[in-house]
Amino acid sequence: MMNIVLMGCPGAGKGTQSAKLQDAFHLKHISTGDVLRAEIASGSDLGKQIAQIINRGNLVPDALMISMLEKIVSATDVGIIFDGFPRTVAQAQVLDEMMRRLQRQITAVVMINLPEDEVIGRISSRRQCRNCGEILHVGPEGGTVCPVCAGELYTRPDDTPARAKHRLDVYHKDTLPVKKYYQNSGKYVEINGNQTPDQVFKDICTVLEKVK
Ligand code: AMP
Repeated sequence: MMNIVLMGCPGAGKGTQSAKLQDAFHLKHISTGDVLRAEIASGSDLGKQIAQIINRGNLVPDALMISMLEKIVSATDVGIIFDGFPRTVAQAQVLDEMMRRLQRQITAVVMINLPEDEVIGRISSRRQCRNCGEILHVGPEGGTVCPVCAGELYTRPDDTPARAKHRLDVYHKDTLPVKKYYQNSGKYVEINGNQTPDQVFKDICTVLEKVK
């Protein structure tokens, strides 16, 4: 059973590539960002607290994230793509322990690299469909209608240039140490994310064929 951790800075293409991988390898895509956004959309008290944190571009506390994730992982009986988790070394350690307990193994940790100067532009032009979840990038003229399902496109509240910059700082401080955590595990691979989504996908597939 293949279990993949997909890493990369905000805007690197984790969501886009996860969707492709999910279809190609019949995996379950677990995006912790999507899990948190669903909790916010439910209107619960917990969701209100989460919105305050993520709309500012900060990370939700490890304990909360881990307990939300554990429920989903233990209810999943197919291979998993972890998108946006782990984001701290503490989360990486708990994931290792959780996988052992559930008799699973991480097959590969795929880091999608993107040059810093690409990041803010990419995030600012990003839109997501409220209806089908499609992620796309719009030109300076913007765009409000999803080309896939004609649903409404929106800009994530944490995708403004100032918040994107802050998320990048958080990424450097809290998430890059996770790269060091995995680097010597024999499972860590890097992919050039500064290519078309299809080319990035091809590169990921090439790597996965070797580890599968
Ligand atoms: P994403 O959709 O992956 O860009 O995540 C959006 C936001 O959700 C992040 O900026 C964090 O505020 C929060 N988030 C997502 N995953 C995690 C995680 N593993 N740990 C803590 N916060 C997270």
